[in-house]
Amino acid sequence: MEQTAQGERLRLGLIEGDGIGPEVVGSTRRVVDEALAAAGAPAADWVPLPMGLRAIGEFGTALPESTLTGLLDTDGWILGPHDNASYPPEHRIAPGGAIRRHFGLYANIRPVKALPGIGAAAPDIDLVVVRENSEGFYADRNMAVGSGEFCPTPDIALSVGLVTRAASERIAHEAFRLAAGRRGRVTIVHKANVLPLTMGLFRDTCYAVAAAYPGVTVDDEHVDATAAHLVRSPGDFDVLVTENLFGDILSDLAAQLGGSLGTAASLNCSTDRAMAQAVHGAAPDLAGHNRANPVALHLSAAMLLRWLAARHDRAVLARAAERIERAVAATFAAGIATADLGGLASTGEFTEQITARLHFR
Ligand code: ATP
Repeated sequence: MEQTAQGERLRLGLIEGDGIGPEVVGSTRRVVDEALAAAGAPAADWVPLPMGLRAIGEFGTALPESTLTGLLDTDGWILGPHDNASYPPEHRIAPGGAIRRHFGLYANIRPVKALPGIGAAAPDIDLVVVRENSEGFYADRNMAVGSGEFCPTPDIALSVGLVTRAASERIAHEAFRLAAGRRGRVTIVHKANVLPLTMGLFRDTCYAVAAAYPGVTVDDEHVDATAAHLVRSPGDFDVLVTENLFGDILSDLAAQLGGSLGTAASLNCSTDRAMAQAVHGAAPDLAGHNRANPVALHLSAAMLLRWLAARHDRAVLARAAERIERAVAATFAAGIATADLGGLASTGEFTEQITARLHFR
């Protein structure tokens, strides 16, 4: 951070990515700039870095080394979505996953809270999915060398799932710490009935960590039961802690119950680095049409600002985050929304509406 008369300037990485990425990332940069100004914080220094299809054209790889070294020199960053299914086969890495792995961003925090005015299927939903981000069944994350998926013959495919006590412990601590500051309840989501060794280790390690948080109540469920329970009675949940793949699926389900994929925020973090990333993907069907909902990334950026506020003990950043959250809620409450929520606003119009409300007190 660079010191100024108003305090230190944040240095924030900015990665546009693919599909709707440039539209929602551009909108988020504008909202963050305006929120910092409205809160009385110094302006941020943005560091644009390449990733995705355009990076393949320019650098011959979807994730150039210069992007990783550039990120090292930031306080945190905003990551647009990637569409690796559209990359040529020889370039088909998942750059988002590679960044998470490179920086050891082991926790993926995905809050879902229905906002008034968006016709959420579950208006009482208010939960956080705490997703283990570094192992599980993700083929690019669970091997030191080679892939976690392989074919001994063309007709047989195998997949390796990785669960360690250390990774389960650290994600459980994230979940219990978070729950202690909320309604004080953690649900461990697993499938130990059919994966007794891997999922059993995850479940039992989470229970062992629970002992350090006597003020938090804890229970556990099988993931299939959780899917049904979420639809039947979403208000029952406070914090759910689960492994990588289950967390990915359940958080999309919860996001849709709370509004739309276009409003679902997330933060990827370790103890010393954080990356704002919307839950949704690149939505190639919408790319370039000025129709994407930018709110998921706005709220992810607000999470990043809150994380930075806590890490650097700078309340002004939390106030900027609060302005973003309030402006989003006020815009929806005024009946303004993008097409995914049945509204008529374009991405650009919606951004202007949010920006105007950042200055409301
Ligand atoms: P990934 O696996 O990378 O998360 P995905 O295949 O799950 O991607 P998404 O790109 O997330 O798919 O989007 C699925 C659909 O949801 C899109 O085709 C689009 O119609 C809708 N959608 C996703 N994000 C948004 C958004 N920000 N605004 C509006 N609609 C969206």
